[in-house]
Amino acid sequence: MDPLLKDMDEFEQRGSGWTLHSIVNLAINANKHNPMRGNSYIELPDIIKKREACINVRNEDQECFRWAILSALHPLTFRGHPDRVRSYLPYKDTLHFHGLTFPVMPKDVKKFEKQNNMSVYVFMLMLQKGEYTVLPCYVGSEEKERQVNLLLIQDYYEDQDPDFAARQQLPDTPPKHHYVWIKHFSRLLRPQVTKRQNRVYFCFRCLHYFHFESRLKAHKVDCNQIHTAGRTRLPKGILRKGASGTTSCNSKITSTRKRSHSSSTPTLSASSSR
Ligand SMILES: [Zn+2]
Repeated sequence: MDPLLKDMDEFEQRGSGWTLHSIVNLAINANKHNPMRGNSYIELPDIIKKREACINVRNEDQECFRWAILSALHPLTFRGHPDRVRSYLPYKDTLHFHGLTFPVMPKDVKKFEKQNNMSVYVFMLMLQKGEYTVLPCYVGSEEKERQVNLLLIQDYYEDQDPDFAARQQLPDTPPKHHYVWIKHFSRLLRPQVTKRQNRVYFCFRCLHYFHFESRLKAHKVDCNQIHTAGRTRLPKGILRKGASGTTSCNSKITSTRKRSHSSSTPTLSASSSR
């Protein structure tokens, strides 16, 4: 209301000669705002689950980001029930979340990194022709000693291919989101870049991969300098369209552009999943 009154005052002061007598109608338009946030528990898509690369904590609150980070900082063997919240309760208050609200949005991860002296990279899945591809969502500061990779998953995905999308029956509601820890980065991403079963070593910042760890180490030296947090343009509608206020991960994404000296460049388009 204040801006309106101010406008009225200014209008009269400009010497228009007009005086506002009354307001006869006031219309307010409101849109449902649904920003992309990590939400409560969601199962991984089957094909991703089979890769056994992620730890998915079964939280019942909105704090999946906290539990995913703690599962990474205090890793448990399978027998230790890494998917249970209570496994991490003793560490619940060891992280700082000043000025952050749950569910945590990817754009707020930078604040978390600063407060906790660690680097957190967030990746997401894109569905194209029925196959999933891992894409960077937030890759900010250079890798710190404490480094955690998270996957932000959804309860459903709209296929990027129009023909496949036309055959999908999707809910009318916007997708829910949930963070999980990527425990085995290579196991998660390797199927989308090579059919070979040997371990490959990924650079988390640019997703280039190498067959030898020594090559990766050499690469990281200049990758950290070259890849300041840039931007990657993700495919349109990676989140379901029509959700007012939903954001794709277009902010704070590291470029995945090709570099001539690296040994291999992953394709970030649809690719064979196995
Ligand atoms: Zn790199």
